[in-house]
Amino acid sequence: MILGILKESGTETRVAMLPEILPGLTEQKVEILVEKSAGSKAFAPDEAYVESGAKVVSREEIFAKADLLLQIHPPSEEDVKKLKESQVWISAFNPLWETGLVKTFLQQGLTSFSLDSVPRTTRAQSMDILSSMATVAGYKAVLEAALRLPTFFPMFMTAAGTIRPANVLILGAGVAGLQATAIARKLGAQVYVFDVRAAVKEEVKSLGGKFVEVEGATESKDAGGYAVEQTEEYKQKQQQAIDAQAAKSNVIICTAQIPGKKAPLLISKETVGKMKPGSIIIDLAASTGGNCELTKNDETVVYKDIAIIGQSNYPALTPLDASRMFGKNVLNFLKLIVDGEGALNLNFEDEIVKGTCITHKGEIYNERVKSVIENI
Ligand code: NAD
Repeated sequence: MILGILKESGTETRVAMLPEILPGLTEQKVEILVEKSAGSKAFAPDEAYVESGAKVVSREEIFAKADLLLQIHPPSEEDVKKLKESQVWISAFNPLWETGLVKTFLQQGLTSFSLDSVPRTTRAQSMDILSSMATVAGYKAVLEAALRLPTFFPMFMTAAGTIRPANVLILGAGVAGLQATAIARKLGAQVYVFDVRAAVKEEVKSLGGKFVEVEGATESKDAGGYAVEQTEEYKQKQQQAIDAQAAKSNVIICTAQIPGKKAPLLISKETVGKMKPGSIIIDLAASTGGNCELTKNDETVVYKDIAIIGQSNYPALTPLDASRMFGKNVLNFLKLIVDGEGALNLNFEDEIVKGTCITHKGEIYNERVKSVIENI
């Protein structure tokens, strides 16, 4: 079987697989084609791929010869047109949100796997690109806030007086929020964290954060550990608590998301107006609408001297380690669908294979995506 590693487009700097990962596949008899200069922005030159056993070729050649096509981002319309029914497309394409692409895959009878749909189970942890990339995002968001803030993060007791530590508010305590909590604490800030899932309270405390309590949140056992939409009454109470905390914060890092839905709106324009001039909001939920009313995806908006940063691809600012983590997750996933002789073996009895497979031979395999598409 032939695996083709494609080059990302635009401002993306990562590559789906670094050369260091390739031996894990070549020893499994997988042949590897890599698009010319695919890894150059992640400091992985073509020569390094060749040394690791790959052949460097054009994009066209990958589309013509590869059985599995791997990329981080979704395929372009042109890419989809070039795909054949016998080929398997693997990338992260947010199928609960990008339903148009899912329908196109379906109509063309293509086989597609979306790596952001790997089930969030213990067995699948080593394949979980969402966790890996959220780790990078949470880390980098705090560093960016610390660099931009006109004040320090830690408390300083100096001959010139005592400097108070920064107050950081983190909205959403999933993987990115917990990572941000840990890094902000390491930098010496006071960290307050809010989430609708009470289960994260202990984790927040163990990292040195203070949990902002708002009673009456709705949780669902069927949501697979994810958050669900909240009642209007709860949203009002939540708004008051966040408002009070936001006004005291120098930095807000927004990470609250609900899979397949627009991100919850947690910070109104009015709330931003109550923050101190020079404060920073980093909205990691920008790509699904953002948690702040003023957020613009991939833009920085300044309102009353508060910068609202809608950067939705921090992993691209840490290309080497982000590619390293992404590629290792993909390798672990490929081991499930490629047998010891290097042949493709799609076992849909395996919940990870079934859950990650979005389309195959005109059918949708991932149950959540199926119900979303059926209800459009
Ligand atoms: P996510 O990106 O979907 O959301 C980030 C956080 O925002 C979540 O903690 C969510 O509860 C919170 N949120 C949503 N709406 C909110 C609101 N209105 N107000 C405040 N917070 C709100 O989350 P994620 O990082 O992808 O993690 C989701 C779940 O998956 C978590 O339970 C996590 O522990 C679990 N998980 C499991 C595994 C595994 O076992 N393999 C790996 C990673 C994550």
